[in-house]
Amino acid sequence: MLQQQTIDLLISELNLPDCFTERFRQDSQLQYYVTSARSNPEWIAQIIARVCGDEIAPDHSVSHLAKTFASAMGRWAWSGFGSVPKAVFDRRWAACQSCLHLVPPPSSPAYVLINKVVGKHDDRVCKMCGCNAMTKAKLSTESCPVESSIGPESNRWGEPMGQRTKR
Ligand code: SF4
Repeated sequence: MLQQQTIDLLISELNLPDCFTERFRQDSQLQYYVTSARSNPEWIAQIIARVCGDEIAPDHSVSHLAKTFASAMGRWAWSGFGSVPKAVFDRRWAACQSCLHLVPPPSSPAYVLINKVVGKHDDRVCKMCGCNAMTKAKLSTESCPVESSIGPESNRWGEPMGQRTKR
């Protein structure tokens, strides 16, 4: 069993979600798995998904989604409907795919509807904003909201925090 301080450090460092931490604090086997997979975000995401199941993606309310969607579309239209170059999209999408915050969408009607509208092959969402992550990575007006592990100046896409890529 890990010491409390080490458990707290791992929860913070790996940004472990609430649905995971209670069991993580008590289950030495789970602590072993997480410690072993610590440097591999994809494995960590799989372990979390097993423990949290459907709870992992917060079911953002319809009004929150409508507001987020409208505001993203407004910024996108204002920019002239810009998409990032393929190389930028590939970099962003690779980062999302190894990110703990990329999760399956909840099964609520709001998400089913949005996925029909955006029509993406990959329907996973960014847990931090509730957006379809693949669509988000394509739009020049969007940015990743989470700091990278190397410092607060850049986000997980490797772009300055808050910066939106120009076309
Ligand atoms: S946008 Fe950022 S926080 Fe969201 S899934 Fe992608 S890398 Fe993770």
